[in-house]
Amino acid sequence: MTTTNTHGARRIVVIGGGMVAHRFVEAIRPGTASGELEVTVLADEPRAPYDRVALTTYFTGRDPQSLSLGDREFWNADGVRLRTSCRATAIDRASRQITLQDGAQLGYDHLVLATGSYAFTPPIKGNDIDGCFVYRTIDDVASLRGYVEELRKEDPDRVLNGVVIGGGLLGLEAAGALQALGARSRVVEFAPRLMPIQVDDGGGQALRRLIEQLGVTVHTETASSRIHGRYGRVHQVEFVNSDRVPADVVVFATGVRPRDELARDAGLPTGERGGVIVDDRCRTADDAISAIGEVACIDGAVWGLVAPGNAMAEVTANQLLGGDGTFPGVDASTKLKLLGVDVASFGDAFGQESGSLEVVYADPVAGVYKKLVMSDDARTLRGGILVGDASAYAALRPMVGRELGSDPAAYLVPEGLAAPGTGDLPDDSVVCSCNNVTAGTIRASVVDGAHDLAAVKSCTKAGTSCGSCLPMVKNLMIAGLEAAGVEVSKALCEHFSMSRAELFAAVSVSGLTTFSEIIARHGDSGRGCDICRPTVGSILASLGGGHILSGEQASLQDTNDHVLANLQKDGTYSVVPRIPGGEITPDGLITVGEIARDFGLYTKITGGQRIDLFGARIEELPLIWRRLVDAGFESGHAYGKSLRTVKSCVGSSWCRYGVQDSTSMAILLENRYRGLRAPHKLKLGVSGCARECAEARGKDAGVIATDKGWNLYVGGNGGFTPRHAQLLVEDLDDESLIRTIDRFFMYYIRTADRLQRTAAWLENLEGGLEHLRSVVIDDSLGIAADLDAAMARHVASYSDEWRDVLTDPAKLSQFTSFVNAPDVPDPDLAYIDERSQIRPVDPHQRPVLISGPRIPVSGGGVS
Ligand SMILES: Cc1cc2nc3c(=O)[nH]c(=O)nc-3n(C[C@H](O)[C@H](O)[C@H](O)COP(=O)(O)OP(=O)(O)OC[C@H]3O[C@@H](n4cnc5c(N)ncnc54)[C@H](O)[C@@H]3O)c2cc1C
Ligand code: SF4
Repeated sequence: MTTTNTHGARRIVVIGGGMVAHRFVEAIRPGTASGELEVTVLADEPRAPYDRVALTTYFTGRDPQSLSLGDREFWNADGVRLRTSCRATAIDRASRQITLQDGAQLGYDHLVLATGSYAFTPPIKGNDIDGCFVYRTIDDVASLRGYVEELRKEDPDRVLNGVVIGGGLLGLEAAGALQALGARSRVVEFAPRLMPIQVDDGGGQALRRLIEQLGVTVHTETASSRIHGRYGRVHQVEFVNSDRVPADVVVFATGVRPRDELARDAGLPTGERGGVIVDDRCRTADDAISAIGEVACIDGAVWGLVAPGNAMAEVTANQLLGGDGTFPGVDASTKLKLLGVDVASFGDAFGQESGSLEVVYADPVAGVYKKLVMSDDARTLRGGILVGDASAYAALRPMVGRELGSDPAAYLVPEGLAAPGTGDLPDDSVVCSCNNVTAGTIRASVVDGAHDLAAVKSCTKAGTSCGSCLPMVKNLMIAGLEAAGVEVSKALCEHFSMSRAELFAAVSVSGLTTFSEIIARHGDSGRGCDICRPTVGSILASLGGGHILSGEQASLQDTNDHVLANLQKDGTYSVVPRIPGGEITPDGLITVGEIARDFGLYTKITGGQRIDLFGARIEELPLIWRRLVDAGFESGHAYGKSLRTVKSCVGSSWCRYGVQDSTSMAILLENRYRGLRAPHKLKLGVSGCARECAEARGKDAGVIATDKGWNLYVGGNGGFTPRHAQLLVEDLDDESLIRTIDRFFMYYIRTADRLQRTAAWLENLEGGLEHLRSVVIDDSLGIAADLDAAMARHVASYSDEWRDVLTDPAKLSQFTSFVNAPDVPDPDLAYIDERSQIRPVDPHQRPVLISGPRIPVSGGGVS
């Protein structure tokens, strides 16, 4: 039966205003635009559909509005109606009427059920005490955040304990969210490993190790049996073995259940484990009702992922527009960055197809596990799991079901073969699985005029859901643009159309101090990405935006900055106190030695004339720094894109050739520029005469003494492409030397690209050294006073990062132990003695496995 409304349009009603409902409305637009169809979406949440996948970003202070799917124009388009805070309570199939919460009736010609799921709460005692939460909607996370903030307000010094029940995808997201709120995080998982649905045992071990290193305590193979309260609030979680752990807040992430109650009440058949049964056209047993997304049971299963839901939305829209599309099947590939840890799982990840072979690379100590599942002749890729390093995901996933064309092991080993060029990717390979977009579609969009990432995303939908395919989409776009001879944009990333230098200027002028404000004002109001977030973090730090671990700033930092230490290959950290100019007293040396001895650290003198202490566990960092700070040491910023060291010789105070006091000058410069954040690390050197014992010309700024003063060289570095610094100006007195370096650094910080060292910056600077000289000496741009003032602000606002952490309980709480018994050495840390010190065992001495494609994992029959 086909009926119409008074305007002659067929009435489509969608119950549920989630991600899949949004996709449905998008796909049905040709019908609404032509006046043939009219769509009403009933959403019981108080807002328009939003990006649930990105829910966790709400913890970094984001406005919920920025997660919205579809703008005002989209929801106000002709033939589209969105009713928020509007719940459907019953369906009368005979009369095709829906009852709404307020008792009103709404008729339909075709009904689409898109009611999604609800978060399941395990039926244990105490699960409803104040402080227990689930993690599904914006309102859920807002309540969780409000509760934690309230507890913190009551007692700012108290360390809060968060317990997440469930160690799957959602549980780890929730653990990260609790950490972002400054609480200690603990995850309890019933299965023997984390993320049991996505990764196998090897991947689970690597993942656990990485998650623990981030300070999250993990319990596997155990279940919670009861939540205990005190004064009406959560107090402890008890496990089945009667052990108890402290808890101020509990988050249940124990899975979801389809919201199929309306369908059941209306007599529609549901699956054994819930979900409205639909055929491959997404039709229920009633031809006038479809079900899509997490509420639908298709091919006997319910899918808790966006991609299958979107495919169902498109199939249903296609049917209603007169097409004959059917559900294409499910690609359950996932790539996530949980707490900064890469996890990807794609295709037949567990090798369930008969005759599958595994190729595995595992380095448990470094926390990397990679597995490819291949066909029995080791040629065709069937699936894979990547933990700790998922850089190959974007290239590998579209190759599922195809011949890899080279030795599969080469894709897995570090520094192995590069991923296949984008040119090699066949047109029909699916690049974006969430939205089923092929390489051919992306190439075609570039030919049709989509010349930046935003345009490619907007016209193909590629990369608009989970975003894991974006590196590949960008590569395809650039290859297409280059082939067409079109100039490639200098935009920082897809969120900011400005270059880093332009963004620096904009932030500095606008005076904004948080990422959310900056992306709202100067970017696309999105959530940002791994390119723009640390870049903005660095810009804010360069502009003196406060402690890098304060508030929203903390979430922008790279791994090393996050813990103010350098991660080493065995998962421990190195500690580098600042030793200005390489000058240290005997008492200072003794203190450093005693600390190294007491904590069992390996010590080494660095090339920058200071002492590096290796092998510290994360929870030891504050203890070590307490002693260092008490003895007068400060952070050496060995972890940051900032000033590292000022190397010097003894100069005129001891050396018979010295013509100036190079050590005093080095100390003065190091104390002036300590803590100065830049697009890349900065090093200086000061030599007391032309013999150049401090190797100053290998530094970003090299100072060499002359009879009359100092010569200043700029743009040198060692490393991969060594460069000798070039002479900028000769025979400066102390004051002019400092002023010139001030301006040089500040001009570089303002105008360089992301991760560009001074040498590369100088090479790319229009006018090169001459231009730089004119700016910093002759003030040709009229900005010298600004540069001077910026450096004066830096010097005046400097504060030791580690000293600040030690006096702030919230920041200190991030340095928690990752083993359950902090005094028990982590059994995975394996060391041997060498020259009377410890060092990690070599890879061949620990259980690293690289297996060739000769290990059958299922179905057997392969030799
Ligand atoms: C934190 C988090 C992270 C995730 N990460 C990923 C990921 O990385 N990759 C991935 O693929 N998936 C991820 N997911 C899952 C993904 O969000 C879901 O698969 C997707 O949102 C399902 O969309 P849906 O529209 O079917 O259901 P939902 O998004 O649940 O929407 C259903 C909507 O219908 C409303 N509703 C229900 N009943 C009624 C009624 N009677 N009347 C009116 N309205 C009603 C609900 O309130 C809800 O707003 C994640 C989910 C969460 C919570
Ligand atoms: S650079 Fe000159 S002053 Fe410095 S140690 Fe060498 S010779 Fe002596």
